Amino acid sequence: MQIENLTDLINKTNIRAFVTTNDFIKGKQYDKNKITLKSEKEKESLYSSLKVFSFEVDSETKPTYYDVTIILENNKEIVRTTCDCKAFRNFQSCKHIGAVFVNYYEQIFKGNIINVNKITNEILNKFIPKEESLIKKELQVQLYINITERESYYYYARSFMEYNVKILIGEDKLYTLGNHANAFKSAYETGCGEVYFGKNFTFIPEKYYLSNESKTIIESYLDICEGYFNKSISSSTLKNFLNKIKDTKFVVNNYQIEGIKDGFPIDTNLVKRNNSYELNFDLENVEFLIEKLTKFLIIFS
Ligand SMILES: [Zn+2]
Repeated sequence: MQIENLTDLINKTNIRAFVTTNDFIKGKQYDKNKITLKSEKEKESLYSSLKVFSFEVDSETKPTYYDVTIILENNKEIVRTTCDCKAFRNFQSCKHIGAVFVNYYEQIFKGNIINVNKITNEILNKFIPKEESLIKKELQVQLYINITERESYYYYARSFMEYNVKILIGEDKLYTLGNHANAFKSAYETGCGEVYFGKNFTFIPEKYYLSNESKTIIESYLDICEGYFNKSISSSTLKNFLNKIKDTKFVVNNYQIEGIKDGFPIDTNLVKRNNSYELNFDLENVEFLIEKLTKFLIIFS
C-alpha cells in the first residue's frame, strides 16, 4: 500500500495517534522552506528495525528553531515523535511535527504498509479522553459550630464564651479540614497540587466538585477563619462567618440548623421542626442571639 498523498497519510498510517487534527491543519499551512531534514539513521534490534528522522524546523514567530524527531518502526509505524517546543510539552502534539509529516511523508514512509489494528487502538487511546478523568466526585462538607461556656482564668465565678468552627470534608469517611486548611486553601484556590488527609481521602482539585452550599461554607471558612483554622475565634469573626453561611445547613452544639433567616423577630429565632431546629436570625443582633442560643442550649442539654 502506497502513501501517495495527504489522504493516504491520514487513512493508512497511524499519524492521528501522534498529531491532532488542528496541528495537522497548521502543519499544512507551514512554510516548507522552514523545515530541514538533518539526518536519517537506522537502528536494528532483535525484533524490529527503527528509523530515526531528525529535523530542524524554524519557528514561524521567533528567531529560533525546534528539533523534531520522528521514529518509525519497520518502515511503517510511527512509534515516537518529539519536538522541543512548548506546545509539544503540553499536548504531545504540535504544528512542527504536523508540518514535518505533511512535507516529508514520502521520505518518511517510502510507500510502506501499516498495521491497521494497532492504529485503531492508538487512535482510540489518544482521542477518547479517559473516562475516569472526566467524572468528578462530590466533595462532602459538614460544618459544626461549637459554642462553649468556659470559666474565666482570671476572675472567680465568671465565664466567657468560646467559639469554634469545625469543618469535615471527604468522600465517605470525613476528615477535619483544620489541620490541613492552609495546604487545602492553596490547592483549592489555584486548582493545582494535592492534599493528603488520610488513607480514604486525598484532595485533588480536578477530581472533586462542590455543591453550592458546600462551596459557600468552604469559601467563607477559608476567607474568614484564616489564621484561626485550628483555634477558637472571636464573636465578631463568628458573626462575619454566620453572615456568609446563613443560607446553609450546619450544626451548632449538636443541634441541626436548617439555615438562618433574616428579619424574623428575635423571640422566634429558634424553631423546632420535627427533629431539627430552625434558627431565624436577625444578623444585627447576632451576638445577643448567640448568647441567647447558648443559654438555650445550655439549659436544654
Ligand atoms: Zn513543536
